[in-house]
Amino acid sequence: MTRTIYLATGNAHKLREFQQMFAAAALPWKVEGAAALGGMPPVDENAGTFSGNALLKAHALQKPAPKDAWVLADDSGLEVTALGGAPGVHSARYAGVGAKDGANTEKLLHALEIIPEGSRSARFVCVLALRGPDDAEKFFEGDCRGRIGRVPSGGGGFGYDPVFFPDGFDKTFAELGDDVKNKISHRGQALRKLFIHLRGPD
Ligand code: IMP
Repeated sequence: MTRTIYLATGNAHKLREFQQMFAAAALPWKVEGAAALGGMPPVDENAGTFSGNALLKAHALQKPAPKDAWVLADDSGLEVTALGGAPGVHSARYAGVGAKDGANTEKLLHALEIIPEGSRSARFVCVLALRGPDDAEKFFEGDCRGRIGRVPSGGGGFGYDPVFFPDGFDKTFAELGDDVKNKISHRGQALRKLFIHLRGPD
């Protein structure tokens, strides 16, 4: 029997990545977006940590979900060393509430204008919060290290993908495409930990 996990996000790009990775894992679970429950309820993401914000989103989607539903939330962002870890938990609204990906990226490139090549390191972080019907909570974390380029490059992905070069690659996430990104990304790392949990002990 295939069971459903509802994903607490209104971000269609994130949903696509989750559905691709769940399909590849061939588990008896599938992912449905918040749209299946009437849409993602508004959440004030003010916890100050990725795990705290992920939990706020999971709680919010549990309200319209069936009593026996499983809910998964993703809070993620980009930490840039030269900016003391910014934009971090503020990644989605770095250039202001409701800012588009392009505006956030432009602000980032501007903030790093005078930062030389060797000092542009960054990492993506993803924390997943899983909540089950019995109110059990589990967290799964992943990260992906790399560096920030000087100009956006590539048409794939979302968010800061066009300026993020993962370690070991001379292409951005937006140039590498979903298959490579899913293998090495912060979200891919966190999801692999979740899959081990869902498979359970042998
Ligand atoms: P959240 O939806 O509140 O977790 O915000 C996540 C934000 O972090 C996104 O809007 C992006 O700006 C950034 N982000 C998180 N994951 C990724 C990714 O895989 N690629 C590019 N940007 C990402």
